[in-house]
Amino acid sequence: MRLRVRRDLLTRKTGRTITTSEDEIRSWAEEYARENGWLLNPDNDVLDRVIRGLARNEQRFGHRYCPCRLRSGDLEKDRAIICPCIFHKDEIAKDGHCHCMLYYRKDGAEPVTEENE
Ligand code: SF4
Repeated sequence: MRLRVRRDLLTRKTGRTITTSEDEIRSWAEEYARENGWLLNPDNDVLDRVIRGLARNEQRFGHRYCPCRLRSGDLEKDRAIICPCIFHKDEIAKDGHCHCMLYYRKDGAEPVTEENE
């Protein structure tokens, strides 16, 4: 198993220190997928990209904003796109996966990979 632990300490404007780790986000996403009967994207390159984007947004902005959507900069509006966003359940039900292709329905659409993207 490839061990990829990346920890960054960030002191935000609030003075609160947060720790972000891509492995922690991956475990959190796996657990959430399991609870809902979904899968994470089996394509590791796509999965890594999404996880990295979530970690980067948490480091920069203090929340796991969706890496596939634009933040408005308005904290209240942007709450809708903190992962898991308010759209994901409808998207998974309709398309078989969420917009970022992080979560997949087990019986859903064929996973999008680097090759068939
Ligand atoms: S589209 Fe997927 S990865 Fe992006 S915020 Fe929604 S649930 Fe998370």
